[in-house]
Amino acid sequence: MKRIGVLTSGGDSPGMNAAIRAVVRKAIFHGVEVYGIYQGYAGLISGDIKKLELGSVGDIIHRGGTILYTARCEEFKTPEGQQKGVDQLKKFGIEGLVVIGGDGSFKGAQKLAEQGIPAIGIPGTIDNDIAGTDYTIGFDTALNTVIEAIDKIRDTATSHERTYVIEVMGRDAGDLALWAGLADGAETIMVPEVDEDMDVIIKRLKRGHDRGKKHSIIVVAEGAGSGVDIGKEIQQKTDLETRVTVLGHIQRGGSPTAQDRVLASRLGALSIELLLDGNAGKMVGIENNELVAHNFEDALAKEHYLDEKMYKLSKELSI
Ligand code: ADP
Repeated sequence: MKRIGVLTSGGDSPGMNAAIRAVVRKAIFHGVEVYGIYQGYAGLISGDIKKLELGSVGDIIHRGGTILYTARCEEFKTPEGQQKGVDQLKKFGIEGLVVIGGDGSFKGAQKLAEQGIPAIGIPGTIDNDIAGTDYTIGFDTALNTVIEAIDKIRDTATSHERTYVIEVMGRDAGDLALWAGLADGAETIMVPEVDEDMDVIIKRLKRGHDRGKKHSIIVVAEGAGSGVDIGKEIQQKTDLETRVTVLGHIQRGGSPTAQDRVLASRLGALSIELLLDGNAGKMVGIENNELVAHNFEDALAKEHYLDEKMYKLSKELSI
């Protein structure tokens, strides 16, 4: 393999740049040329492709976002769109591809692998919602952003003796809410994986208030419902002064943590090793602190599960 391509796709996440850097440097280290494909699969279809040099990825390891930009591209879900992508790769002489993104992006990479283009996926999303890896690149940074925000909200919650509902991201996964809630000592954590009875939550809040508790923090994963609606219900049914904060896209930005930079560097390098060893159609990840690779087929067929023990612990610690 003499020339490979790299793209970022789907939602951006902090640490994607560190992964791009590792892909480029590791490939060049092994004498392989690297081409950057801009705006994900949209740029692959349109041919927005440029050669990356060692210097192209200098001074980016600490930056959030992605220097290659990212996009969602409906056309690439069609066989015609995929064919255009394959044609562009052939035109540029690109023999292998690294795709950094979430499981949607991996489905696209799988389609390319089926058409004879060796493709490796690197999990980059703040949601931590991908089966086949314990952590995705960006999760740790987003988690720390959420914790910093909740700490600040906690100060004002204490001063004003209010109940705070904080909605965090995570799509259909509750990881971000669970980890942040546990790390921040939230009274209640609502995740999509567990059906919580609102009446039980309300009763607990009232009980806490009667016991003299001055404020409460409720962390809601976006997949578990609207923070605004939950806040309204709590206010109506408890009469506790309740405020809602939807953290939103602040969670997707910022300089990646050391954890994310190191993970991105390791996974980026592994993706090149796999391509050079003749692998195709795999995603890389980390499980039990070991780097792993799974066939797209297997990984995409599995579901990501919330850590049940950790959920149970969060309940035990917030009585
Ligand atoms: P993520 O990668 O973060 O899960 P999306 O689900 O939006 O984000 O997917 C990103 C892009 O991957 C899509 O816009 C599309 O171009 C491509 N993609 C998603 N699903 C498929 C699919 N089934 N076949 C081909 N390409 C896909």
